[in-house]
Amino acid sequence: MQTLLIEGCDLLTVENGNVRFLPHQDILIEGTYIKAIGPTGSLSVPKEATRLSAQGLLAIPGLINTHAHVPMVLFRGLAEDVTIESWFNDYIFPLESNLTPEDVYWGALLGLAEMIEAGITYVADHYFFMDEVAQAVSEAGLRANLVWAVFGHEGEQKLARTVEFVKRWQGTAEGRITTWLGPHAPYTTTPDFLRLCAHYARDLDVGIHIHVSETAAQVAHSHQLYGMSPVRVLLESGVLEVPTLLAHCLYPEEEDYKILADHPTGIAHAPKTYLKLGMGTAPVSRFRSVGIPVGLATDGAVSNNTLDILEQMRLLALTQKDAAHDSTVMPIAEVLAMAFLDGARVVRQDGVLGALKPGFLADIALLRQDRLAMFPRYNPVANLIYSASAQDVDTVICNGQVLMQNRRLLTLDRERIKEEVQRRLERLNQRVPGRRIATYPV
Ligand SMILES: [Zn+2]
Repeated sequence: MQTLLIEGCDLLTVENGNVRFLPHQDILIEGTYIKAIGPTGSLSVPKEATRLSAQGLLAIPGLINTHAHVPMVLFRGLAEDVTIESWFNDYIFPLESNLTPEDVYWGALLGLAEMIEAGITYVADHYFFMDEVAQAVSEAGLRANLVWAVFGHEGEQKLARTVEFVKRWQGTAEGRITTWLGPHAPYTTTPDFLRLCAHYARDLDVGIHIHVSETAAQVAHSHQLYGMSPVRVLLESGVLEVPTLLAHCLYPEEEDYKILADHPTGIAHAPKTYLKLGMGTAPVSRFRSVGIPVGLATDGAVSNNTLDILEQMRLLALTQKDAAHDSTVMPIAEVLAMAFLDGARVVRQDGVLGALKPGFLADIALLRQDRLAMFPRYNPVANLIYSASAQDVDTVICNGQVLMQNRRLLTLDRERIKEEVQRRLERLNQRVPGRRIATYPV
């Protein structure tokens, strides 16, 4: 079994709502797990252990991205300053009709490389041609929960094919890949279609990852069609009987809180997308107060532009303070608890991810703290939330394997990926009138 010793780092973890910052620590990794943590020089280390000097670096749990469309990096910058309806119907859905499986493979590699550079070691991804995304994850070395997004109009046969995808990739890549089902949203499916998804999910013993209640208009539309909120549609179609990852949920109705709290649900929160699309913000504190975990997410790079959870941590704090007109709301410890622990709960990995402690999986990001914006270091935790950027991530480890060291990617070829993406751009940027993969209801 491979043994790795991270030597002399500072370490940040959150336990029972308290932030623990420990200077000058060693982390011993055995195989894929953290074996021991202690003050530098205090651990008994097998002499064959590989040593990784981390003097001055800050170790945090590998960041968890609870909702993304990773290959959308292929369209980054193509839909700016437009309404949500136009974003979907004039840009995203037409552009996505250009995608081939091979495009998705290279787009996934680009997005995964960007995430490794940003200290992200886990992503819940919701997209198409997911065999190619799974292949990319397998090569990149991250951990991922993957779903093949499916629309109601694509029919039961297409849904059955996504079931085959779940079976094909479940538990692969040394256990780094898990697979669920991914009906796109209540507004792009029907209750009957969702009922069938829930049936398959129960059968497969997997969860469901779905967009819900992103705008007030979507909620009103659901009332018009079905006489109930989108969350109640999920309840009545049986979706909430299985673990459910809800992307966004900005507009829950009063009864939705209890429905979600009574079921195995978690929410993915992507503040940069909400700010860019002028969507408002989710009632994060209220969700958490009734026991619904809320993790951080980047969403896709066409609404967010970066796949960067550090940036989401900062925006989470700022948007919640702003929405409440109260600077004491969303303190640093709560931001960290959400990013680390809630993130792990949302993707059903609590107890093995989201903290640095013995027995947890060895998913770790090490950040430099030597930029002037990180000095002085009275409060390294405040520096992390309010000053750090993805550029400060120095070294990334996932499942005990070093994926980046001194900002050099070890599993992926950054230049090759850029070349492969570059030669696809002209074709991918075409929008043919009337050709789109789905329609957003206006
Ligand atoms: Zn999304």
